Amino acid sequence: MMRQLSCILLIFLSLACLASAPVQAAPVAFDWLEAPADELALEDVRALPPGAWQRFGSNEVFNRGFSDGSFWLRVEIPPEPVNRVLEIGYPLLDEVSVHWVVDGELIQTHHTGDTLPFSSRPIYHRNFVFLVPSNTDTATAFVRVQTLGSVQIPVAVTPSAEFLANEQLSYGWQTMFLGIIAAMALYNLFLFVIVRHSTYFWYVLTVVFTGLVQLNFNGVLFQWLWPNAPGINRYFTIPVICFALFSAIIFAIRFLNIRSYSLRSYRFLQWILAAISASFVFTLFGSYQTGIVLVSAIAAVVTPAVWFIGFLVWRKGQVLGGFYVLAWTPLLIGHLILAVSKLGIMPRSFLTEFMPQIGVALEVVLLSFALAYRINLERRKRHEAQEQALAIQQQANLTLEMRVQERTDELERANEQLKAISLTDGLTHVANRRRFDEKLQDEWKRAQRHGHPLSLLLLDIDHFKRVNDELGHLVGDDCLTEVAALCAAEVQRSGDLLARYGGEEFIILLPATPEEGAVRVAERVRQAVARSPVYSSERVAPVSLTISVGVACVVPDPDMEPQELIRQADEALYSAKESGRNRVMVARDFRAASVPGA
Ligand code: GH3
Ligand code: MG
Ligand code: MG
Repeated sequence: MMRQLSCILLIFLSLACLASAPVQAAPVAFDWLEAPADELALEDVRALPPGAWQRFGSNEVFNRGFSDGSFWLRVEIPPEPVNRVLEIGYPLLDEVSVHWVVDGELIQTHHTGDTLPFSSRPIYHRNFVFLVPSNTDTATAFVRVQTLGSVQIPVAVTPSAEFLANEQLSYGWQTMFLGIIAAMALYNLFLFVIVRHSTYFWYVLTVVFTGLVQLNFNGVLFQWLWPNAPGINRYFTIPVICFALFSAIIFAIRFLNIRSYSLRSYRFLQWILAAISASFVFTLFGSYQTGIVLVSAIAAVVTPAVWFIGFLVWRKGQVLGGFYVLAWTPLLIGHLILAVSKLGIMPRSFLTEFMPQIGVALEVVLLSFALAYRINLERRKRHEAQEQALAIQQQANLTLEMRVQERTDELERANEQLKAISLTDGLTHVANRRRFDEKLQDEWKRAQRHGHPLSLLLLDIDHFKRVNDELGHLVGDDCLTEVAALCAAEVQRSGDLLARYGGEEFIILLPATPEEGAVRVAERVRQAVARSPVYSSERVAPVSLTISVGVACVVPDPDMEPQELIRQADEALYSAKESGRNRVMVARDFRAASVPGA
């Protein structure tokens, strides 16, 4: 990652070294004066006393800021045996007039400037270039410049051959710059079309407008695009600077997500955006000069400000801030170098002239790199989010499964409870008639299959009506419950079933039990009831009860019904009652199995 970055930087550094060869064009010394606009004609200027002129050294660029007046320059060019050109190297000057005087005679006059069609230039060049008309005599150029923009008048006299050679280099650089701008703009436009993220769109706008600003300052847009429509120049420079600043700021806001890292910076940039918009509107109606001063001031604030904000959000954890600062630094340095060289502190060289452009090119490439890196970041983030979502979903599924399992268990428990309730007698809590019927069916079939004997005990409390009548139903109920408990205590084998068969009748099913066993159980139950008086919760004396039991036992054969077994037990019970109660009778022969006191 860093390696790729350093590769890019290295390429640019070597390019910059190549480009840093000093410009051959030799700046010349000249005399100058400032006059209110249109007050002096050439004759007036020529007639001025020497004291009216000021001398300007040759190593600096003549720079007078903004001025309404016109400037006169007097450039004396001594004879030399080579053809030379006089170049005024700032293409945005409104009006440039050159009057050539040789031997005291006015021999040529040129009126040009960026308010006139390109064809007004004697040499078709993006800067103002004039052939020195004499190699044998001293030629004096009276140059008049008037401009609403910044008054920069770099004057140089260069042998034509050298001028041509320099031109190759600088034009080559212009086209390379254009190539970089176009490539980056297109590449990111494609990215935008595919990714559909507005950051890329604003980046493309930033690149395009910044490129246009640079090309405009170098005079090539006028030359290439609208040489016959100089009116456009008046309305191009400021808007295009506004657009470039505007899109650069919006790009910074989106790219660095400034709002969430530093709200104060975000607010500041919003104010700047408003100021830019206001300047733009002002340019359309207000004075050009005020407009250009305004946007220059804004640009002078914005360039270091966004660098600083980039640094700030970087420190606050925005990874992309590092890229941003890195990309913005060359541009800042470029502007600094340009400013310094314009002040004449640094000698003019290719580097000082083109550093802003190199800065833009570097910025554009580095930011493009950063945008690509951002895709990577976002992909990683998305991947993480996906994994997280997956984990959450898995957790949710697990929880859901657990819940379902819990509910199922609950339901099963409830069902079992319901079933138990539906199969249990509410008063005595032993099995009810339905449960008994089911069990009888099952055991009947089982006994049929295995040829086992199946025994049945039918129990009825003796004289129970009397208990109810004399002591009340509540005591009766207590007696029923107690008898059930006594019976249950005697019926212990796991397959056996005690059920309440009707009002005060109980039934006991004893699978795989022969008659003798059944009689034994019946007798145990009878004795248990007979010797256990019932203590009712009602305030009455303990109630002594007895029961009669009918016993039936069969080995079911295929054409026998279970009802037969009940019928036999019932008959035996009836017989027990007949025989005096409190006894056990066995079916068929109604043998008395037991009698009280036996
Ligand atoms: P015996 O069986 O010895 O011939 O005389 P008995 O008085 O017990 O006669 P029977 O079996 O016909 O009487 C049934 C009586 O049992 C009727 C009713 O008073 C009483 N009974 C039936 N079901 C209940 C009940 O759920 N609670 C109460 N308290 N009494 C019941
Ligand atoms: Mg009865
Ligand atoms: Mg009874």
